[in-house]
Amino acid sequence: MSNTFDQDFCPACGTILPLPDGSSIIQCLLCKKTQDISVFHGTQSTVHVNFHNVEVDKKTLENNETIEGTLIQRKCPRCGHDEMSFTTRQLRSADEGQTVFYLCPKCSFQELENS
Ligand SMILES: [Zn+2]
Ligand SMILES: [Zn+2]
Repeated sequence: MSNTFDQDFCPACGTILPLPDGSSIIQCLLCKKTQDISVFHGTQSTVHVNFHNVEVDKKTLENNETIEGTLIQRKCPRCGHDEMSFTTRQLRSADEGQTVFYLCPKCSFQELENS
């Protein structure tokens, strides 16, 4: 795989591809093969990337900035919130089993579970 794409070339026929019109797909004028431009310009589709980041930030703020891990369906025993953040930590060696941490994003209640 070459990473020296200065210009978008059709991977099928080598023709220079037209400039993207705002969508993430461009079509080769010659062979009509469509190409996802994110393959070429992972960082150039800034509108899309920024939008994505905003979404993530918003979601993080809604919950709690310090929360890490995955939200799962689990009822918080303290406040009854139906989602808790789920994180696992490996303690010592791999055969020791892991500790599962549950954290309520609403009231910060923490629950540990050893497996
Ligand atoms: Zn082509
Ligand atoms: Zn709670």
